[in-house]
Parts: sequence; C-alpha cells; structure tokens
Amino acid sequence: MLTLLHTKCYQTVKAHHAMSFETAKKFTDLILRGDNEYINPGNSPGVVIEFIGGEPLLEISLIDRVTDYFIGEMVRLRHPWANRFRLSICSNGTEYFDPKVRAYINKHLPHLSFSISIDGSKRLHDACRVFPDGRGSYDIAIAGVEHFTKVLGGKMGSKMTIAPPNVGYVFEALQNLLALGYKEINLNCVYEEGWTAKHAQTLYGQLKLCADYLIENGLDDVYISIFEEGFFKPKDPADVQNWCGGTGDMIAVDYTGSIYPCIRYMPNSLGPGVKPLAIGHVGHGILGTEEERGCAHCLKCVDRRSQSTDECFDCPIAEGCSWCSAYNYQVFGTPDKRATFICVMHKARALANAYYWNRLYRARGMGKRFAIHIPEDWALEIIPKGEWQNLKRLEGL
Ligand code: SF4
Ligand code: SF4
Repeated sequence: MLTLLHTKCYQTVKAHHAMSFETAKKFTDLILRGDNEYINPGNSPGVVIEFIGGEPLLEISLIDRVTDYFIGEMVRLRHPWANRFRLSICSNGTEYFDPKVRAYINKHLPHLSFSISIDGSKRLHDACRVFPDGRGSYDIAIAGVEHFTKVLGGKMGSKMTIAPPNVGYVFEALQNLLALGYKEINLNCVYEEGWTAKHAQTLYGQLKLCADYLIENGLDDVYISIFEEGFFKPKDPADVQNWCGGTGDMIAVDYTGSIYPCIRYMPNSLGPGVKPLAIGHVGHGILGTEEERGCAHCLKCVDRRSQSTDECFDCPIAEGCSWCSAYNYQVFGTPDKRATFICVMHKARALANAYYWNRLYRARGMGKRFAIHIPEDWALEIIPKGEWQNLKRLEGL
C-alpha cells in the first residue's frame, strides 16, 4: 500500500501551495487508526509514505516534522506498521546539499527510498531543468547522485519518461546513465495523445542501438525496464487485474486535506475542466460521504475486461501493454475506458524486444528463443519488410 503526502505542487496546473502540519497530522492519524475498510493493517501488511512535490525537498522541515510524528505515533500505538514502513522521496537534486536535507537523509537512511531525476544526459537535462538565472541543474543533480550512492552507500534507480520530443534521444540517455553506473533504468512512454508511426519507427531504431550496446558491452546484469522477457504475448483471459494501483491502492492527500485514490486524480494533475475524484477528506475521513462511497465503488468495479475493447482484451501482444486509470478518467470522464494512444509504441517495443532477446540468446549461445507474437501487418506499420524478415530469422522458430 502506498500513501502519498502531496506537500507542494507544480504539476499540469502550476501553483504554489504548501501543506500545513495540521493537515499532514490529521491524515497520519486517519491512516494509523485503521478503522476504515480502505487502508488498514489487515489489507496492507506495510506502508510506503511518499512525499511528492513539485520539488519535495523545498519542504524538508515539514517532511522532517511529519516523519517524526508518523514514526512516533506508530511506536506509541505499537502499530503493526512500526517496523514495516518506508519513506520515499524523488527529488530534482537541487536542494540535496542543504544541511537540513543531509540531516534528514542521514537520520532515515535505512528506511528511505531516495532518487534524483536525471533526464538522460547533460544536454537533455539542462535543456529543460534550469535555475531562474538560466543555469542548467545537471551538475548539481549528479553531485547529489554521486554523494548518495558513493559516500552514503545508498541505492538509486533512474527513470526516463519517453515523450514525442525526446524519443530520438533514448540511446544517448541510456549510454549516459550506464556510464554513471546506474544498474536499474526505467524507461516508459507517456500515455498521452500524440504518438505516431514515425515516433514508433524512431523508438524501434533507438532501442536497437540500445540492444546492440548492451549485448556488445556484456551488460546483462543491468535492468532496463523497456526490455521485458515476459511481455509481448497474449494475456490469460482469466487475468483481468487492473494495470496499476491507481484505482485505490495509491491513496494520496493534497494540501487542502482532500484524499484521492492516486495523485493523478488531483485537480493539478487533471487540469481545468475535469472534476477531481476525491474519496475522502482529513476532516471527515475516508469514504465519509455518499459521493465518496460512490467513487470508491465505481473504482472497485474497474478491471481489464471492463476497461478494454475486444481488440485490446484479445490482443496478441497484450502482456505488458499498460494504461493509467486516472488518465482514462481525464480523457473519457470515467476510469473504466482505456485510452490507447500508446498502442503503436507498444508495438515498436514488442519488435525491439524480439530483436534484443533473440540477439542476446544467440550471442550467449543459449538455445531458447523469444517468440514473436506481433502480427506481420502490425509490424510493417513500423519496420520495412527486410527488417521483419531479419527479426523472423533471429527468432528462427
Ligand atoms: S498509472 Fe496512473 S492511475 Fe495508475 S498509479 Fe500511476 S498515475 Fe495512478
Ligand atoms: S493498445 Fe494496442 S498493443 Fe495495447 S493491448 Fe490494445 S491493441 Fe494491443
């Protein structure tokens, strides 16, 4: 179970708001009381408290106070989560060397999942993450990464979100992250509208470069999430589970005290004109009103079958094709209908995975093969016939 404290926000709708300690305290009391069916030690053996911004470390004093209160209360109540909790912070790294931040990290290191966002390479990072005076923030972010991993011995993964403007830089970004020593690199395409067959061709080309680089440099121990051995095949029709925890397992509170099934249902994520989907408030609790109970009931009914068209449900490469329930709600006014703008990128990913795994198996002298489930006519939307034949040769089934 993940619980998010949204201390400050600058998302789709940029605004400057800070949560009060009182609001955070009421939320902490509420979830530790465990007297609601929604989140309690019975249905969740542990808890992750994640502090999300904007930039969460701008509110380090508040985070420190809330953390002390949360841990203190768990000890006082002899709560089952007292030794089953984690704190999670993802930062842009610009505040890392603030003495208060350093003190917090030192104090909570054993329970802390901490990461600094790096947009692939210095060029990509400094193109969009700049200080008000125009200086890029890559160097300070990297200094924070190196201190956390090399001096404190912390583990840090990396995440790159692929969108139409940066799809041509995936290989450059991956090379840089590998050179920095990252062993776990999460790469995923955004769900938003705007993907075309041209982007899919670019992604396929970039992932082929990544695959060659990984294989030729013997980097088999690095986890790159875009290459998944178990994906790109049909899904078991009995598996109707929703893709993510966004139908209620990622409960989040914002600075007003409103509680949501996931941070993505907050007003600043949904943008203007879309009604936020709240399931509670620190003032009256979780599922305290008829409307909130209605929302929760609606979310509980959502599953892969109810959300998907027959084409998606029976898709030959359905395994690993993801969706965001909250984005569905933003687009269609209901989380129960699946936005599929990502379709062509999943197809490109399926083809690149066929290339990567079969090249890897052959290079390592392994007998197994990665079966290609994507139909030829889907593949030819993205790659030429000769490349398709090359993939089939590598598959060799
Ligand atoms: S995919 Fe969307 S709905 Fe699901 S947890 Fe993530 S942001 Fe929330
Ligand atoms: S979006 Fe496309 S690739 Fe994904 S399940 Fe649906 S049809 Fe298959």
